[in-house]
Amino acid sequence: MIFQEKTKLPMATKGTISVHTENIFPIIKKFLYSDHEIFLRELVSNAVDATQKLKTLSSTGEMKGELGDLKIQVKLDKDNKTLHIIDRGLGMTEEEVNKYINQLAFSSAEEFLEKYKDKGAQVIGHFGLGFYSAFMVAHKVEIKTRSWKENSQAVHWSCDGSTSFELAPIDKEDRGTEIILHFAEDSMEFNDNFRIKGILEKYCKFLPVEIEFEEKVINNPSPLWTKAPADCSTEDYEKFYKELYPFGETPLFWIHLNVDYPFKLTGILYFPKIKNDFELQKNKIQLYSNQVFVTDSVQDIVPEFLMLLHGVIDSPDIPLNVSRSYLQSDSNVKKINSHITKKVADKLEEIFKTDRASFQTKWENVGLFVKYGMITDEKFYDRASKFCLLQNKAKEFFTIEEYKEKVATTQTDKDNKVVFLYTNDPIAHDSFCRTAEKRGYDVLLMDGQIDNHFISNIEHKIENTQWKRVDSESIDKLIDKDIKKESVLSEDEQKSLKEAFEKQFGGIGKFRFETEALAPDDQFLTLIKPEWERRMMDMQRMQGMSMFGAFPESWNVVVNSNHELSRKLVKLKEEEKEPVLQEAFDLARLSQNLLHGEELTAFISRNTQKLV
Ligand code: ADP
Ligand code: MG
Repeated sequence: MIFQEKTKLPMATKGTISVHTENIFPIIKKFLYSDHEIFLRELVSNAVDATQKLKTLSSTGEMKGELGDLKIQVKLDKDNKTLHIIDRGLGMTEEEVNKYINQLAFSSAEEFLEKYKDKGAQVIGHFGLGFYSAFMVAHKVEIKTRSWKENSQAVHWSCDGSTSFELAPIDKEDRGTEIILHFAEDSMEFNDNFRIKGILEKYCKFLPVEIEFEEKVINNPSPLWTKAPADCSTEDYEKFYKELYPFGETPLFWIHLNVDYPFKLTGILYFPKIKNDFELQKNKIQLYSNQVFVTDSVQDIVPEFLMLLHGVIDSPDIPLNVSRSYLQSDSNVKKINSHITKKVADKLEEIFKTDRASFQTKWENVGLFVKYGMITDEKFYDRASKFCLLQNKAKEFFTIEEYKEKVATTQTDKDNKVVFLYTNDPIAHDSFCRTAEKRGYDVLLMDGQIDNHFISNIEHKIENTQWKRVDSESIDKLIDKDIKKESVLSEDEQKSLKEAFEKQFGGIGKFRFETEALAPDDQFLTLIKPEWERRMMDMQRMQGMSMFGAFPESWNVVVNSNHELSRKLVKLKEEEKEPVLQEAFDLARLSQNLLHGEELTAFISRNTQKLV
């Protein structure tokens, strides 16, 4: 027992607290330092609880008579440096104050200290001190309360943060409780209307009982997520979205969560429209516990790939004071997490199946989530691989399976692998794409923010397939069908051709030349970047590696030895027309540092052609 009464009511009583700690409140204050503002959430939610309990008593008929106006009032008296939280809930009798404030609430404060001794910092931030959190900001706290029970004697409790309290009878007309905080010297920041309003708006915006501050109700007591999904219209969802994010664009669609078993979970998750720029807007989902705001850092509760969703989640199974370590170890949290993943997959699959056209129009925005989810979440991958869409250059959509089927006949290589050709930049790769299309190949458009990452992650999961960017090989090697190629030039001539190029452009380290007997009407020069090399560079770039220690940028240049120009160049060399050859290359070299990829190829081709 912690509080010991010395005398009995109706006279004023005094009690003392016997705890191991000299003075518990300074310690509370120290421990919860970073979270001081939550005192208001605790006190207002106690007032809400008391009001809800009274409503229940009334609805069961236990309490008779009028409930009247149940609004909770928060009043700041700046001159006296006091904050008042006034409710018309069920109030407390003297015995109840003893039991719930002096014993239970205090013992939970004490328990906090005990746990803190054992577990240290781990406990901080998830232990609900409830009522006693008031002492984080107040040097003195008073309670004036009168029970709803007929003929109750109102009582006044006060405690100055030391180990003693006072309890005395008072006159109080109205049913309910008033909590009065006398702000401590070091907590005067809270003696400020703006600050109090801010805290109320943060934590109490959707509390189920009206809360008034400065003569205005600050909350919406029945937010949309608490309603049955069948009763909510598209307009309602869009309106509620605006309430949450006044500056947000209309969302694409939403998922109304409504679970009763094996855990309680309600909420609405919105798929936002993502702007061209991929803005990482984390912390947009808000977590509530019975409509009390808990936090907006929902990692662990929401799967990482859905952190970009917007909306609210409400679960009374998550305590008001949560810490990351708590969330990571809690089994309910894990269930909530996989439930959300499942619901999102359900919803996407539903839209895909019932309205593929609309699914496709949303893909531009939704695709990012889906792909990210497939990369990071095995279970989601299994579901989403059925509705994940690929888009080709002609802007047609396919599921992965559909696409594999589409290209299998034309794009299977000698190892029986179906090669998926893709581009992330159709303009820069235009000539590659055209060359591929000329062979009857199809090219996928993979120009999204995470497509590179997506490809390297899922490639091995799709049986017998391989992804290659169109510029990663010369056309015949891109999909190697092991067809013997006739070469117009002899081996010696090919060597001589290669040497001519190396002599002119080599030594710079930027280009590596090789000759290949392509079709005579294929490109003369092809500037390629092997798939593995490019992926490695991408990875380095993603990890933010600097130029130091990273690969220098270089390309392979494939010279088509069957092209007419090759024959001409070899001839120039044989005829020892070095000056003409020199001139042909000089023009190209002049600008090579300024030109890249396709442009360079075109440039060399153009100038070589002109002079041969
Ligand atoms: P919790 O809310 O988790 O029970 P608190 O420390 O916040 O713990 O409150 C302790 C108890 O004090 C409550 O359970 C309730 O019985 C009582 N109490 C606190 N505030 C009020 C109030 N405004 N009206 C009636 N009872 C209250
Ligand atoms: Mg409480």
